[in-house]
Order: sequence, then C-alpha cells, then structure tokens
Amino acid sequence: MKVVNDNSCSWVNDLNPRTNIKTISSDLNCEWLIIGAGYTGLSAARKLGQLYPNQKVLLVDAQLAGEGASSRNSGYLVDTTLNDGFTSNKELENYKKKADIYKIGIEAVKKFIKEYQVDCDWNECGKFFASSKSEDKDILENFSDTLSKLGFEHNLLFNKELTKKLGTNFYNIALYTKGGILLHPGKLVRAMIDTLPENVNLFENSSLLNWKKVNSTINCGFKNGSVKTKKIIFAINGFLKSLGIKTNYNFPITLTASMTRPLTDKEFISIGEPKEWGVLPVRPMGATIRLTKDRRILIRNTAEVHNPYKMSKAELEKRSIKQKIGIKKRFPQLPNDIIKSTWSGIVSRTRNSSQIFEKIDDNIFVAGCYNGSGIGVGTLFGEQIAIKASNEHTNEIETIEARSKPTWLPPQPFLDLGIKARLMYERLRAKSEI
Ligand SMILES: Cc1cc2nc3c(=O)[nH]c(=O)nc-3n(C[C@H](O)[C@H](O)[C@H](O)COP(=O)(O)OP(=O)(O)OC[C@H]3O[C@@H](n4cnc5c(N)ncnc54)[C@H](O)[C@@H]3O)c2cc1C
Repeated sequence: MKVVNDNSCSWVNDLNPRTNIKTISSDLNCEWLIIGAGYTGLSAARKLGQLYPNQKVLLVDAQLAGEGASSRNSGYLVDTTLNDGFTSNKELENYKKKADIYKIGIEAVKKFIKEYQVDCDWNECGKFFASSKSEDKDILENFSDTLSKLGFEHNLLFNKELTKKLGTNFYNIALYTKGGILLHPGKLVRAMIDTLPENVNLFENSSLLNWKKVNSTINCGFKNGSVKTKKIIFAINGFLKSLGIKTNYNFPITLTASMTRPLTDKEFISIGEPKEWGVLPVRPMGATIRLTKDRRILIRNTAEVHNPYKMSKAELEKRSIKQKIGIKKRFPQLPNDIIKSTWSGIVSRTRNSSQIFEKIDDNIFVAGCYNGSGIGVGTLFGEQIAIKASNEHTNEIETIEARSKPTWLPPQPFLDLGIKARLMYERLRAKSEI
C-alpha cells in the first residue's frame, strides 16, 4: 500500500520544496539498508555514514523523507511525560528508566543541532501539564511527588497565573516543568536530511513492498526495482505491522492536528501578548496546544484507530472542526476562520508504552514506538541501533535496554476492539479537555 499524505501540514509548508528526489528504479546492492527516513532512519543513516565512510548506505522512504510524523508532530522535545498513580518504588524505578531515555534523547538532538548549527526555533521554555478541572489537582500532586523524588524542577500554578502566562482563562490548574524544549519539527528533520553524509544514498517515494532473508542476504522488493543488502534497519515506526515486524507488540494510532495563521497584532494583544508556550493535557485524550514564537496556535485533540496510509480530505475536515472548537473554547475572542491547515500523522504504540529497540534476526534490526516522544527518543534510537548493528556497545544502549520490553498484544479483532474501547473511555474522561 502507498502512503498518501495530505499536503496541508503547516510545518512542512513553512519549508522550501526539495528537489533532486531519487526513487528506486533498478536493482541495487548495498552493505546497509535503512527503511524509513524520519528522525530514526535519518539518525541511523547519519551514524552509519560516519562509521563506514567506504561502505554503501541506502536510506529509503515510501514518501518524501521526513514528511511523515517527523514533520507532523507538535514539536515538544520532552524530558518528562505525565503518568498518574505512581505509588510504589517499582513504578518510580520504571518512571526513572523512561526519563533517563528522554534525557539522553534530548542530549542526542542537542548534539546534532550544535554540531550542524541548526536553526529549528529551539526554545528551552519548559511545558505545562494543564487542566480546566480543579479536581485534577490530585493527579498533579501525585506527579509532583514523582518529579520531586527524581529531582525535576517544577511547580504548580493556578487559574490567575495561568491566564497571564497562556492568554486563556480556560485552565484552572497546571504543573509546569522547567525541562523540555519547544521546536519546529519540520526544520529539525529537514536539517537531518540536508546534512546526511555523502556516502548515504537517499531514495524517496519508494515503498518497500516485501522482504526476505536468504542465507546471509536480505532481498527487498520495490515497485520498480530491488535492493540486496547485508544488513537492514527498519525505522518505519507506525508502519512496522504492515511489514510483518513485531506484529504482536505494536499498533499504529492516527493523530490529527491543526495550526492557525499567525495572530494579528490586535488578536495577539487580545490574548495578553504571552511568550511562546506549550500545554500538554493531564487526561490522556485531552488537547495538546501550543503558541509558537511566530504567534500561531497549534492544537492536537484526536487519536484514533484509522487506516495509517491515508486520511481523506473530508475526514480531515471533520477533525478540523473539532480543533476549531478546541481553539474557540480557549480563545473565544479569536475569529472562527483562523485555522490555516489540518493534517494527520501516524504514531506507534505498545501496550506498556515501552519502545522497540531490537535485533530481530541476524543482521536485521528495528527501532520505533515512541508514542509522543519520538523527537528525542527517535533521534537517539536511530544512532544507537546503528551502533548496535555494528556490534558495538555504549552507555546509551545500556540505558535503553534497561527498560522492560514491550508486552504481548492480543490478536485481531480483539486488539482493535480493545484499543477502540480504551480510547472511547479516555475520550469520555477527557471530554472537557478536548
Ligand atoms: C500529530 C502528532 C503530534 C506528535 N507530537 C509529538 C511531540 O510533540 N513530541 C514528540 O517527541 N513526538 C510527537 N509525535 C510523535 C513523533 O512524531 C514520532 O514519534 C516520530 O516522528 C517517530 O519518528 P520515526 O522516524 O521513528 O517515524 P516516522 O517519522 O513515522 O518515519 C517513518 C517513515 O517510514 C516510512 N515508511 C513506512 N512504511 C514504509 C515502507 N514500506 N517503505 C519505505 N518507507 C516506509 C514513512 O513514510 C515514514 O516517513 C507526534 C506525532 C504526531 C502525528
């Protein structure tokens, strides 16, 4: 199946269109093949290109490189995510393992942007976990307790202060964490494409249709050609299942988001001229909403089981209406027709929220499943899976592998039914926050 992306993502449309797009149109051989050119695949390719300057590294994507979820996300490079109810030491230990991965993920992105002098609107402004429901105080106090034990700087804020900082009086309570960065995801991933080492050959609009290992060679079939490779890394995140990889351990979820045009001076004054900010929901299905430094509002308030290959214009329009309502709830003074673009993107989930970082057979590796933390974790996992595939070991790999592996999922149709029921329950719980 072909990935057919909507071409209406503001982050992508902010960038100059790319030229010199190569597709796979003959039979090729290489030492290394990486499937998927998002943060994960691009980082893996960069690392392999550096490690093996004299070997042939091929990086292939079904669509334009970086234009999947890696350009379509909300741009939060997170150091912490909210999990309520950490009551035992074991749970605290698990949270720490997750946060340790986020930490080295942030370091991996930082190192990249420093080395290549990347401008991706980097802003170390922290983030708010906010709710309109004062009763969510219990969840936030619990979270605060976890963060205190692990040494994360944070504080609780209430309606008045939040109104000043965010320009909306919608939220009654929030936990602000000082760590975490807001950035332009499209600019970041474009820089990763532009700085690929010379020995990395990028092929786009070339979907891997089938693959098979025969003795020590992996044969990969594309519509107009093939690749024979010695080693392969799958970095296709939400599409792992479609190629039969770790089928019982991950599943795709489709998210949609909308972005407004920049607010006019008058509109910006009407919301109190706040500085750039980012809000994450306290209840899992609530809205992620942020104000960018160029005064645009981004909102993501859907997550669903949907065909990952395509969302029609009509379907997107329905989600855009939900996002318009979400903005109106928070900023009633802004005009109705303020949304400039709406888009969809695919993430990958596991049952226990653990990521996949594995050798699945001799010379076959896979990294993915980051839910809402792929900017840092994907960048990290890409370079580290390349190192693991080179039979080397690092402290980072040790940190990544200290986390428990994804747990087994039930087969279809029980899986989809279970996920749909769970999402519906979470949607109901978060009704006021959407
Ligand atoms: C709306 C939205 C908001 C999000 N917000 C955040 C956020 O704020 N912070 C954060 O950290 N993360 C966020 N995420 C998640 C983040 O975007 C992902 O975790 C991250 O992009 C994963 O990177 P990746 O390279 O592993 O996968 P992707 O970016 O999905 O790249 C995988 C690539 O594989 C390609 N592919 C698939 N099948 C094939 C095939 N058969 N042959 C060849 N190529 C193939 C795809 O075309 C795609 O380009 C969000 C995601 C969405 C959709």
